[in-house]
Amino acid sequence: MFEVGYLHIDNPIATISSYHQFAPEGPGGLFILDGFDLDDVPLAEMESCLLKIKEHRGRRSVGLSVTCSLDEPLLAAARIANRNLCLLELRLSKIRDPVRLLELIPSLKRCGVTLSLRIRPEELSDALLQRLNETELDLIHLDLRGLNGAGPKIVKRAKDMRGPAIMALADVGEFEDAKALLSMGAEVVSLRGADPDFAEWLSGAMNEYDSLSGWCNAPKHICAGGDLRGLAYCCPPVKHCAVLNALKKAGMTPEEFVKKKLSLAKGTPLEKGDGTCFGSLVWCCKITKLCYLRDAAMARIGLSGKEYMELKKKLAEDLLKK
Ligand code: SF4
Ligand code: SF4
Repeated sequence: MFEVGYLHIDNPIATISSYHQFAPEGPGGLFILDGFDLDDVPLAEMESCLLKIKEHRGRRSVGLSVTCSLDEPLLAAARIANRNLCLLELRLSKIRDPVRLLELIPSLKRCGVTLSLRIRPEELSDALLQRLNETELDLIHLDLRGLNGAGPKIVKRAKDMRGPAIMALADVGEFEDAKALLSMGAEVVSLRGADPDFAEWLSGAMNEYDSLSGWCNAPKHICAGGDLRGLAYCCPPVKHCAVLNALKKAGMTPEEFVKKKLSLAKGTPLEKGDGTCFGSLVWCCKITKLCYLRDAAMARIGLSGKEYMELKKKLAEDLLKK
């Protein structure tokens, strides 16, 4: 469902548990063991927890969340994580200095590890985000707990800067809370301390939603507040609407946008679309917007709603490739 580095995350829900007290069969596409302060916890203990988890989870993805005041234990942890094809996540509690952080990331990446950084939004200025985007960091894990509904906007801000993939740790009480974060560009939503039955149910519901929709974290339309991936649904920029501002953010002129969309659609089912507003499905709206013109055009070429959204997903990725 989502590939990052050497990880294959088959469900957009991740669960996080303290290494002191974990149920090895934790649900979700990624299970992160939290709390390894390598100033206090020996690497051998961390590795033995990891092996125990891997025994239960088989090929499903696992992560280790670490911090340390010294670089060498972090580098050793990165080598262990890489050997076990496991995510290594840095926590900032002992890595406060941004200069150290920005030097540490390339050193850890040189160990071949898939790397995440867990960070609170108040620690993540635009300038730092920009600098992180220039590194090979694989994931930014935004800790959005306690923000009372502001989380999706923060995810959108990071997503629109087009850096590493985003994981969002938030207070999720229902399916819609997770969907709101995914629809603004999070690839994964993580839960800490959630009721295991709820986490299990949510992972199952997300699997079902993905298999029906074809694009589990599909964005909203740009004019409905969606992130830049929503350009995949935009019509040609012929009127004064939100698309112009979005194109500015994406660093594309309206002419380049039209040219790029048409060339990406060429030879794909999105090129078709007789009878639609602009004669091609490449300009058509999200599947959830009811439209008998688009649906008739799709029916004529035998394209299902799920396939249509899978094509829009690919289109969004290719449109925004730097
Ligand atoms: S081009 Fe269409 S979908 Fe895009 S922002 Fe404008 S009105 Fe909305
Ligand atoms: S035909 Fe329907 S889906 Fe396509 S652009 Fe027009 S309103 Fe949107």
